[in-house]
Amino acid sequence: MPDESPVLPTETLRRAPKVLLHDHLDGGLRPATVAELADATGYAGLPTTDPAELGSWFRRAADSGSLVSYLETFAHTCGVMQTEEALVRVAAEAVEDLAADGVVYAEVRYAPELFVERGLSLDAVVEAVQAGFTEGTRRVAANGGTIRIGTLLCAMRQHARALEIANLAVRYRDAGVAGFDIAGPEDGFPPTRNLDAFEYLRQNNAHFTIHAGEAFGLPSIWEAIQHCGAERLGHGVRIVEDIKTDADGTVHLGRLAAYVRDRRIPLEICPTSNVQTGTVRSIAEHPIGLLAKLRFRVTVNTDNRLMSGCTMTSEFAALHETFGYGIDDFRWFTINAMKSAFIDFDARLALIDDVIKPGYAALT
Ligand SMILES: [Zn+2]
Repeated sequence: MPDESPVLPTETLRRAPKVLLHDHLDGGLRPATVAELADATGYAGLPTTDPAELGSWFRRAADSGSLVSYLETFAHTCGVMQTEEALVRVAAEAVEDLAADGVVYAEVRYAPELFVERGLSLDAVVEAVQAGFTEGTRRVAANGGTIRIGTLLCAMRQHARALEIANLAVRYRDAGVAGFDIAGPEDGFPPTRNLDAFEYLRQNNAHFTIHAGEAFGLPSIWEAIQHCGAERLGHGVRIVEDIKTDADGTVHLGRLAAYVRDRRIPLEICPTSNVQTGTVRSIAEHPIGLLAKLRFRVTVNTDNRLMSGCTMTSEFAALHETFGYGIDDFRWFTINAMKSAFIDFDARLALIDDVIKPGYAALT
């Protein structure tokens, strides 16, 4: 890689089957939906109610180069997602938008504790979101499409509810919840603060990923893997800090980077989001190029489609333009992601053999 392929039309990239492991439900609303839900639920905090202006406001606010102000944009999306009706609508529309983007399997995540401001219980939040995913999947099927959604429940690292949310994830694992994550400010809130939740999950044979190696570097990644037992890394891009390249191009992996690669620990890489939060300066300087070349288990993700104004198709297009990746590379990222999903092995294999491989074969 890259395979120096000719210019790929965006429509070809859109039709390519895609697998998305890192996408936040409260980061993917349609701007018009934010405005309509604000009106319907009496949320008065929006900077503007014009959908087009609102869409660009979110991107500008998220572009400030700081993870802290990036996270502030979520006050508005979460502000309008405090009723069951709103949660059902947002979840159903997310499925439709992902299917239109060519996504065939997505793990969509959110923190239930952020949607209880108006009295919903955690269980009611989970059930409303699952009802929305079911409805969205039904609408996609009615239009001749197919998509499967696995839910990840997040705990916020600055709150002290991780064990409670981990318990919720285990209770709903046969109802569409595929795993668990911790999100929120990484600096100052190491993953080991929530060790009890991770021990509980492991004792219950449950799956989890951890946001690590985005705003904070190697110690956060090391804790997530070696103390907490994370199966995947949310972002994980700062693993490059443990990789040295000599002047003659010889690459040396430190012990932690080698461990991550040897154990095939998936990296949920979100290129545009990393540029927005200032983790990397540009797509061209993004470590995904080096990590993919070294054959880490790299996956490509959107993180927050509203704040970044991105889709899986636009992420692929940016990587195609910058690194020259072609169809074979996108197939590799997609199969990497499908292998790394939290649904059961048989289902992953079926999606690879029956949907992803034939879908890529049809493109060439
Ligand atoms: Zn994230």
